[in-house]
Amino acid sequence: DDRIPRISSSIRVIPDFPKPGIMFQDITTLLLDPAAFKDTIDLFVERYKDKKIDVVAGIEARGFIFGPPIALAIGAKFVPMRKPKKLPGEVISEEYSLEYGTDKIEMHVGAVQPGERAVIVDDLIATGGTLNAAIRLLERVGVDVVECACVIELPELKGRDRLGDKSLFVLVSST
Ligand code: 5GP
Repeated sequence: DDRIPRISSSIRVIPDFPKPGIMFQDITTLLLDPAAFKDTIDLFVERYKDKKIDVVAGIEARGFIFGPPIALAIGAKFVPMRKPKKLPGEVISEEYSLEYGTDKIEMHVGAVQPGERAVIVDDLIATGGTLNAAIRLLERVGVDVVECACVIELPELKGRDRLGDKSLFVLVSST
């Protein structure tokens, strides 16, 4: 697909952010290129429009950029999966491990129903810890997680292996 190279080249790489040795994939430059941003959303919409998706679950913060336009285009609801203590209502949460310590993601109780079909959207999969927690959270309440969708995968970190038998759809692989 000739849209992929344009998307890939619109993503800026910033060395040593947020700490030395990390090559940060910066998607804000993709957002500055309306054609590349549109192609990104279109590719996801084309993939999911006929898959009877009820829920697009977006992961804070950059899943909140890509998730809503996909949800609107395919007629699904958008559910934010947030960092702890941000959501005002009753939440369920799922912990996951970081390099040092742990983190959590939370979702409102009642936002999704058992049997609904969901796609989880984020900008990037690194170790897969975040998406793994999001899958567990949705499955705990009986949601059928159809697929995880990211703009970028860092294949060297083998995050895909942490998703078990869940399928992962990505547009760009970055080394
Ligand atoms: P993981 O849990 O797969 O190790 O990390 C993925 C999460 O960290 C995603 O929510 C993603 O937004 C963020 N992340 C990690 N590295 C990068 C990066 O290089 N660029 C961007 N944009 N996000 C990153």
